Amino acid sequence: MTAVAELMDYAEVLERFDPVLGLEVHVELNTKTKMFCGCANEFGGEPNTKTCPTCLGLPGSLPVVNGKAVEGAIRIGLALNCEIAEWCRFARKNYFYPDMPKNFQTSQYDEPIAFDGYLDVTLDDGEVVRVAIERAHMEEDTGKSLHVGGATGRIHGAEHSLLDYNRAGVPLIEIVTKPITGTGARAPEVARAYVTALRDLLRAIGVSDVRMDQGSVRCDANVSLMAKDAEEFGTRTETKNVNSLRSVERAVRYEMTRQAAILADGGSIRQETRHFQEADGTTAAGRAKETAEDYRYFPEPDLVPIAPSREWVEQLRATLPEMPWERRKRIQEEWKLSDEALRDLLNVGAVDLVAATVEAGATPDEARGWWVNTLAQEANSREMELGELPITPAQVAEVIGLVTSGELTNKLAKEVVQGVLAGEGAPREVVEKRGLKVVSDDSALLAAVDEALAAQPDVADKIRGGKVAAAGAIVGAVMKATKGQADAKRVRELIIERVGS
Ligand SMILES: [Zn+2]
Repeated sequence: MTAVAELMDYAEVLERFDPVLGLEVHVELNTKTKMFCGCANEFGGEPNTKTCPTCLGLPGSLPVVNGKAVEGAIRIGLALNCEIAEWCRFARKNYFYPDMPKNFQTSQYDEPIAFDGYLDVTLDDGEVVRVAIERAHMEEDTGKSLHVGGATGRIHGAEHSLLDYNRAGVPLIEIVTKPITGTGARAPEVARAYVTALRDLLRAIGVSDVRMDQGSVRCDANVSLMAKDAEEFGTRTETKNVNSLRSVERAVRYEMTRQAAILADGGSIRQETRHFQEADGTTAAGRAKETAEDYRYFPEPDLVPIAPSREWVEQLRATLPEMPWERRKRIQEEWKLSDEALRDLLNVGAVDLVAATVEAGATPDEARGWWVNTLAQEANSREMELGELPITPAQVAEVIGLVTSGELTNKLAKEVVQGVLAGEGAPREVVEKRGLKVVSDDSALLAAVDEALAAQPDVADKIRGGKVAAAGAIVGAVMKATKGQADAKRVRELIIERVGS
């Protein structure tokens, strides 16, 4: 292990340097079959059961392009406001790596299918940053290596390695930004917001499962620093396969403080790939970064070029669904949200969850209340995304329904939600198991009311004398006696009835 890198204070980094970002996002398409063969494109499974001579690159096997994957690539390109190439082809990217049994990756080089686009990215405070897209190109995924016997799971210290080629040949789209400059202190936030916006976009067009945790969206973050008076970009590092939105932000911030410390000390940055370490938010050196020449790209001779007709491209453009930003505008109007309320909703990543909860029968206000307040806090304290919480929109709608029908008070509903989150089952099961139903049986409530009035005769007299506000003390006593399971409004009615009679 190398010594822990020295870091520069973030504020000082910004005084002396301007960060330059470049983001490369790999997206696995959710086509039924792989990019160049008929093998199933599914996550996981017994190792090496979803392979054939083509995706293993055995001699004599020939690839055939998956039309659905090309369609997905074009849809992504169009959604990112890109030009779609009239003619493009695949290239061989040559390198030797055990997870690449052919010793080359079929990819695109100087002729990507989509290029010159942009994506508008909204930051937490509503500021919009336009990120220019350099290209979106098609390629195939590699297999997976598993290093056994070491402490870190990395190849260093491992006794042997295992290879699973189920993922080899899965269709990938690599989306590459142009250098993102001028974001200053907000560079880490811009990086996260960009990947978030891209993920939302990909989910909307339905081309990928967009599961960062399963690797169907992976981000490589390029970071370099320019001294304030410099005119050329600095040397960049590429932090590979960052696998959560939060990690993208942390990785960029860490690289900025690490590189600044080296540069300020008169050192130079090595052009290399780096690995992000989830546990402490640092990055560690990987291999020296290859240049395009190292890969000896040449056109793939076994595949015909792709020349999507303009009619087809326009047909695909017409099938694009409502984009996330259009949807946000519509939702704001339909749910009558202020800009702030919409921003809160976006910041906690709750739009889809609230929409699904509304679809399951809740009102927008109720659904928003639960997701943006209670559940967002819960996700925050568990350090996970809101959507990863072990509760579904349908379950939240069910809890809301129980409150509306008077079976639960808000306080009890919170307890039910805690039960669902703790894995005790669906809301109704939690209600049963914990015995949380509101006591709505008037005779049971009356007994508690009578008892409370008898215990506090002075309060009873006050109410009788017209001080209705004094009833609060009796309501409190009844709530305590029923362990919070009484409907407070009904209790108050019964008290007034009782005292008056
Ligand atoms: Zn195959």
